[in-house]
Formats: sequence, structure tokens, C-alpha cells
Amino acid sequence: MKKLILVFLGFSFLFTFSACVTSNDEGHAEDNQAVVAKNVILFIGDGMSYAQIQAAETILNKQLAMQSMPFTGNSTTYSADKLITDSGAAGTAIATGHKTNNGMIGMNADSTAVVSMLEMFADAGKKTAIAVSCGITHATPAAFVAKNINRNDYEAIAADFATTDKLDYFVGGGRNHFQKREDGQDLLSGMQENGWQFFDELTAVVPTSTKFGVFVADEHPASVLEGRGDLLPKATALLIKQMSAHENGFFLMIEGSQIDWAGHENDSAYLINEMADFDAAVLEALQFAKKDGETLVVVTSDHETGGLTLVNGPNKDYTRIHLHYSSGNHTSVSVPVFAYGPGAEYFTGVYDNIDIIDKVMKASGY
Ligand SMILES: [Zn+2]
Repeated sequence: MKKLILVFLGFSFLFTFSACVTSNDEGHAEDNQAVVAKNVILFIGDGMSYAQIQAAETILNKQLAMQSMPFTGNSTTYSADKLITDSGAAGTAIATGHKTNNGMIGMNADSTAVVSMLEMFADAGKKTAIAVSCGITHATPAAFVAKNINRNDYEAIAADFATTDKLDYFVGGGRNHFQKREDGQDLLSGMQENGWQFFDELTAVVPTSTKFGVFVADEHPASVLEGRGDLLPKATALLIKQMSAHENGFFLMIEGSQIDWAGHENDSAYLINEMADFDAAVLEALQFAKKDGETLVVVTSDHETGGLTLVNGPNKDYTRIHLHYSSGNHTSVSVPVFAYGPGAEYFTGVYDNIDIIDKVMKASGY
């Protein structure tokens, strides 16, 4: 009898053990399939660092989607010539892995044009898109497409957007830099001849096999408080839907552009509403990535703006936070990097903004 029980235990142990091996094998098989990220969605909260995130978490009274991402790192932001970067140099560092001087985009400090991750992914056969809550020619989106010694040369930057063959879709403002130009050119008609379609709002976009741009404003889009609506989450959903069927995958960059402007203005209501819009877009991407299993989502920032800290209320009231700004400009404090999906583990630790592209490309199998 004892022997029988032992045999039975042995059998059940073997059975359990082999069941474990089977499920482990399946797990590993899934992991192996997901080791390389087919799609990459990169979020840049312009001017967003730890205090902006925690202020939004506290005031919105919920964990942000970006805070749910399992791997986190910390990135320094200085530029080639300044301890405190601007969005041109920081966008270039993130997009291309090259430090440059403040005010420059898509070039290294020697004014040599450098290649962005968007361009690398396009060359690898992926679809590419950008959605922003500023003019599309503004520094951060421009750093992924344009090459210019001067980030404020919007007409030349628009011409780079008009002539690149690396970008498939964009959403943002800035139509005037394409159509109401000092040189009198209408860049959009030339782009239409090259297969682009243009729309005035997201809801006007019809399923299309061509490239498209959505200009929601002639200049910069309104703020959320001024009635912009949920532009970033809707643009994220639209662009994912447009590109997710592509067999080679896609690269999508989303910028929460006006988090920075709220910081410059030391305007907390402005800040929290822009943070909420940006984080709702992150949530859209994460929901897709969780279903898809082959999508890397990275959320980071180019620099902090406003020198924001969270101090106690009047009379040593430690039960609430008061948003205290120490600057009307950018600061040098480092910024977080959140990652989810295949290769997300590469994003842990302390590193520099020029290292982000290496992690993205490694996660993508390059
Ligand atoms: Zn700024």
C-alpha cells in the first residue's frame, strides 16, 4: 500500500512536472515570438518630468497609464553646448542619438545632417507617423524629419516635410507654413501630386491607401482648456488603426507639445489638462500593445519646464500639495523613461537621451 502511494505520488509529481515543462515551453515560445518589437510607439511629453507626472496623478486622483508601465529608467537631457537643453537639441538627441547645439534640429553640433529613428524604420519598410498638439514643423516633430541649423526656420522645415519619402501620416497644426509662405509656394499641392491627401480634422479622415496629413489648425492647435478636445488619444487610435495591418510594422511618435507651454506660463490648470490628454493617448497605445504583443511603447520627455516642485499648502498644511514653479524656462533636471512590451527591459537604469535610440533599435532587432 505504502509502495502504491509512493508510486502514485511519483506519478503525480511527474505529471505536474511535465505539465510545468509544457507550460514553460509555451511561455518561452511566446517570449521568443515577442523578443523583437515589430511596432514602436514613442511618446514625448515636452517639458514633463517627475513633478508634472505626480502633480497630474494627485490632482486627477488616479494612477496615470504611463505609471503602469513595468520598466522605468532615468534620462539626462543636456545638449552639446548647454547644460539646459531646448526642444530642438533634445528632440534631435532622442530621434537620432546625436547631441547637438540648442536651436538645431536633425544635425549634429558640426551641422552635419543625421538620420532619425523614423527614417531608419521607414528604410526598414515600416509605416511611420507623427501626431502632435503643436504645429507639425515645431522642434520636436521636426527633429524626426527635418534637418536645419535653425529650428525656427519653419518654411524650410515644412519643405523637408513636403519632400521626405520617410513619413506616411501626420496630425498636428502648422498648415500656414506649407501654404501661406513668403516664397509664395503651395507645398501641399506638390505633396498631393505625390500621393498625399489632406484633411482638416480627424473625423474627416476616410480609409485611404495613400499618405495623409491632418491639419487641425493653421498655426498651433488650441489647448485642451481652449477646446482642442481629445486630439492626442483620438490621433493615436486613428494612426494605430491605419498602420497596424501593415505587415512590416510601424513607428509612431506622439508629442504632448503643450505640457511645455503650460510650464513656461507656470499655469497649473493648463498643465494638468495637457497631461491628461497626453496620458489618455498613452492609454490608447498600451491597450493596443497589450492585445498586439509585438509593440514596444516608450514614454519619455525632452526636458523639464518650469522648475516645478510640489510643496505644502499655507500654514504647513501637509495634507495637500501646492504646485510651485521656480522657473519660467526649461531646467536641467532629468526625466523619466517608461517602457512596455518587447525589449522594455532595456530601458531600466540611468542613462542619457542619446542612448534611447540604441535601446529602441535593439528592441526592434537592429
Ligand atoms: Zn519650452
